[in-house]
Amino acid sequence: MKMNNYYLELFEGRKNIIILPHILPDGDTIGSSIALFYALKKLEKRVYIILNDKLPSNLKFLNANSKIITTEDFEKLSIKPDLIITVDSSDTDRLGDRAYLLDLCSEVLNIDHHSTNTNYGKYNLVNSKAAACGEIIYELLKKLKIYIDKNIATALYVALSTDTGSFKYSNTTPLTLRIAADLIEKGIDFSFINTELYQNKPINKIKLLSDVLNSLELHFDGKLAVIYVTNDMLKKNKIDISDTDGIIEYARDIEGVNIAVLLKEFSDNTIKVSLRSKYDFDVSIIAKKFGGGGHKKAAGCTIYDTIDNAKNILLNTFRENFR
Ligand code: 5GP
Ligand code: MN
Repeated sequence: MKMNNYYLELFEGRKNIIILPHILPDGDTIGSSIALFYALKKLEKRVYIILNDKLPSNLKFLNANSKIITTEDFEKLSIKPDLIITVDSSDTDRLGDRAYLLDLCSEVLNIDHHSTNTNYGKYNLVNSKAAACGEIIYELLKKLKIYIDKNIATALYVALSTDTGSFKYSNTTPLTLRIAADLIEKGIDFSFINTELYQNKPINKIKLLSDVLNSLELHFDGKLAVIYVTNDMLKKNKIDISDTDGIIEYARDIEGVNIAVLLKEFSDNTIKVSLRSKYDFDVSIIAKKFGGGGHKKAAGCTIYDTIDNAKNILLNTFRENFR
């Protein structure tokens, strides 16, 4: 869908707007949602970001919790939304237990950058060339002629930085860097933001990392690395599953490894799988086989089985597709 004044019309006459980030939220979905929240407030909208999940601790500085309400809080308000915006969610499963909110209003704007997006919205603003949803939101705000102030710029910078691995992944384009430069020109404290995002890990996350690295297995002549996060490891190290972001990079960063697999025990027989690739292998194809999705080099899915079975099922699938 092309962005033009059509978007101005889309927001016109709509007062109550719900924003839905995806479950197990990351910096892109939260940064993008917060940026939209501030921007729509400037248009004098009533905006509600609805999420029931815990946020990763490195996003604390965005003060997102003060802008997020749970479904329970929202229901108490008895508000009928005029527009629902989903952010960074390639399908409605990514909304988890909030998917029912889509029944409150058929006016759904799906803003996303996954090539596996199912275009479930009435309006689909999907661009798989964008490195992060933050890029799409940036362009949308420009079209809407909403001034990008320091708060919005900070949130968008978080979105761009986290989804590009600090601008080092191959999804980073000249446009990504131009947008980042523009955000820095808005006066954001990008040194502070980077410290908060990447240099402030809870000590328990580092302790967890040591257990996770101990689980490392290499397969297919060292081309595929598997690591686990079990429930016991989380309990032992007193760390929440929301703080396991970035751990998979240690597996992908190994010399000779093309593909990294992280199996996270979400609950008994519910394994959240993260997949990463370093070169050409498209891991979103594997994720899709299990009802998930994502990008070529970063994808995910859920397998309803034990960790060991999930690992074996995945290894067999990779074996069939690996060259
Ligand atoms: P992560 O491994 O960091 O959770 O996710 C990597 C990428 O895959 C992200 O872009 C994320 O949105 C996507 N992804 C992860 N899990 C799922 C899933 O269960 N379904 C879909 N459609 N996408 C997922
Ligand atoms: Mn994203």
